[in-house]
Amino acid sequence: MELYDLTVHEIMDNLRKKEASAKEVTEATFHRIANVESTIKAYISLCEEKALDWADKVDQQIGAGEGIPDLAGVPMALKDNICTKNILTTCASKMLENFIPPYNATVVKKIYAQKSVLIGKTNMDEFAMGSSTEHSAFHITKNPWNISCVSGGSSGGSAAAVASGEAFFALGSDTGGSIRQPASFCGLVGLKPTYGLVSRYGLIAYASSFDQIGPLTKDVEDCALVMNGITGHDKMDMTSVNRGKIDYKKALVRDIKGMKIGVIKEIFQEKMDKGVRQSILRALERLKDMGGIIEEASIPHIKYSLPAYYIMTSSECSSNLARFDGIRYGYRAKEYTDIKDLFMRTRSEGFGEEVKRRIMLGTYALGAGYYEEYYQHALKIRTLIKNDFEKAFKKFDVLITPTTLTTAFKLQERTENPLDMYLSDICTVPANIAGVPAISICCGFQEGLPIGMQIIGKPFNEGTLLRIAYTYEKSTDYHKKRPKL
Ligand code: GLN
Repeated sequence: MELYDLTVHEIMDNLRKKEASAKEVTEATFHRIANVESTIKAYISLCEEKALDWADKVDQQIGAGEGIPDLAGVPMALKDNICTKNILTTCASKMLENFIPPYNATVVKKIYAQKSVLIGKTNMDEFAMGSSTEHSAFHITKNPWNISCVSGGSSGGSAAAVASGEAFFALGSDTGGSIRQPASFCGLVGLKPTYGLVSRYGLIAYASSFDQIGPLTKDVEDCALVMNGITGHDKMDMTSVNRGKIDYKKALVRDIKGMKIGVIKEIFQEKMDKGVRQSILRALERLKDMGGIIEEASIPHIKYSLPAYYIMTSSECSSNLARFDGIRYGYRAKEYTDIKDLFMRTRSEGFGEEVKRRIMLGTYALGAGYYEEYYQHALKIRTLIKNDFEKAFKKFDVLITPTTLTTAFKLQERTENPLDMYLSDICTVPANIAGVPAISICCGFQEGLPIGMQIIGKPFNEGTLLRIAYTYEKSTDYHKKRPKL
């Protein structure tokens, strides 16, 4: 195994035992980047000089015999919609091509406090709208398991960076599946926390009532470590919930005896890849062997989740993205006749096609005369879906579905028809609609491409998700596989 193949906890062991220095680990990461990045294209920008500086400081601390936090000296990547002070943050958009934030997002402050080493900012679908990272204004990110396939989206750059050994963990954002779906396509663990658990301060908003930041890691233990680093109450985010200090490492227990696991039947009635169905069924068998109680569960309104999701998120984005007008910051059209023309040209030139499609859809759905029929209607569906989950969670500890109905699809396969692309999110959006936590872990392979299993939990029950995921993971070796690059 190469250094870049190791997990966060393995790197931490090495650092603490002084078998490697933070500088060596960081250099090894940049060496890996030099070898594979021209193929994978996971990053929008890199910060090598700063990274080596940060690593040096950690080494000094270790040298001085001081204790180090759990993520210290570990190279990591951030999705490019998370604001980093004095470091370019583009949202993969021409609109923010030159935007250098004057402040850090709360998660960035937290991860810096852990002394983790920022390697670079990762590629994504523009403003996090998409499922394949093909909607970036800059370039497309390839799947490290098969470079003719997409890495997933919208946090495809974060997923590809971790899967290819160009970072040891990454943060992504998940509005309707953007952490879990690329995690699934790239054979990683991806967790979308309960709405309100991780601060959104400094995350450039797509749909504020859905967005959550979360980790993408190589295994479940790493996921728990990163969760410890990023959770916690933040007075800068009105929707941040104060749950006190939680140690997610405590959830790393191999025992699921008596746990009630529901299998969402409506999702299993959908058409899915044969390999996906078989792998999930096999995983369920395994969970049963380990003492889990498996039964069928129902979320009756789940079939309305996709249309309701796209109405609500487009509506929120049409309002959130109104700030990009060419006046305050970001791109400004070169030529214009008056202020109205300036707005129009700036927005027409600065936003990509998918973002414009959603702004138009959302503006329409919020318009007088349409509001009741579309937006309000979608909100009612949101309540029904929330109620369905509440009811199911009276009986079950967790609910299981595949993360995606297929493995990673081919580049350009779904770019022609937006509805095809939207359908990739069918298993992931319900958790965002209900605000509940969900994790994706690898449960098999089909033709060399990873398959993801999704475990959905009760609000703030991330610990239960990690425990089941950990118990399952320890009975497999999928998480030890690395793509050949
Ligand atoms: N693919 C979904 C969308 O396009 C989810 C995106 C996300 O979670 N950021 O809206």
